[in-house]
Amino acid sequence: MVELNLNHIYKKYPNATDYAVEDFNLDIKDKEFIVFVGPSGCGKSTTLRMVAGLEEISQGELKIGGEVVNNKSPKDRDIAMVFQNYALYPHMTVYENMAFGLKLRKYDKADIDKRVNEAAEILGLTDFLQRKPADLSGGQRQRVAMGRAIVRDAKVFLMDEPLSNLDAKLRVSMRTEIAKITRKIGATTIYVTHDQTEAMTLADRIVIMNATKNADGSGTIGRIEQI
Ligand code: ADP
Ligand code: ADP
Repeated sequence: MVELNLNHIYKKYPNATDYAVEDFNLDIKDKEFIVFVGPSGCGKSTTLRMVAGLEEISQGELKIGGEVVNNKSPKDRDIAMVFQNYALYPHMTVYENMAFGLKLRKYDKADIDKRVNEAAEILGLTDFLQRKPADLSGGQRQRVAMGRAIVRDAKVFLMDEPLSNLDAKLRVSMRTEIAKITRKIGATTIYVTHDQTEAMTLADRIVIMNATKNADGSGTIGRIEQI
């Protein structure tokens, strides 16, 4: 069971005068697919990065699986993040890219092999394991990025505009695949997009965020508008 609880979460960046995220409250159920939508600057990425542990929480409490994780490093949170720029290592093969995180964590060779092959099967990448990222299509690269998360059995998936670099046609087919894959592995997911159709297709629940102006007209404060 991996539920997420964001309780009165605030974020103020160093040197900033305003909150980037203010009083964000959300309970996410195990295996739920949540989508954050909202205009640029409303705090979607900041919130996601706080859940991932890549950004410090200024105030409030974050629980993953019932445990407060505010002070845990990203590596000690049971999460995987898929970025829009894929973050693949160009000099490594598909296999090596998927195996890399497991090697770092000292998984044994046979286990790595099993996990990578199983993930490749799920993702339709079995025939591409020896290729380098440059020799893949955009959609295949996106799948490798997901594979790096799947091999670790991460139960929380965080995706920040994962399809925004793909052309329109591929975006539609990858959207369907992402829904299938996350449901197949039973991951609890937060997915960030500014595309309303994407949100409506994928989400169990949509969180609409908004950036409100300060009273004096300066800056913006990210808030939940509607769930
Ligand atoms: P979104 O993902 O919805 O576009 P962000 O979370 O990126 O929004 O940004 C929320 C607010 O925080 C914006 O006002 C943005 O300028 C500010 N912000 C984001 N990252 C930083 C940073 N590293 N330092 C200072 N301010 C930032
Ligand atoms: P994961 O992010 O799936 O846990 P790793 O454990 O291999 O994968 O990554 C370790 C760190 O290196 C993470 O912070 C990750 O964001 C970063 N990283 C992964 N791939 C790349 C890349 N191609 N370029 C730069 N940094 C990367």
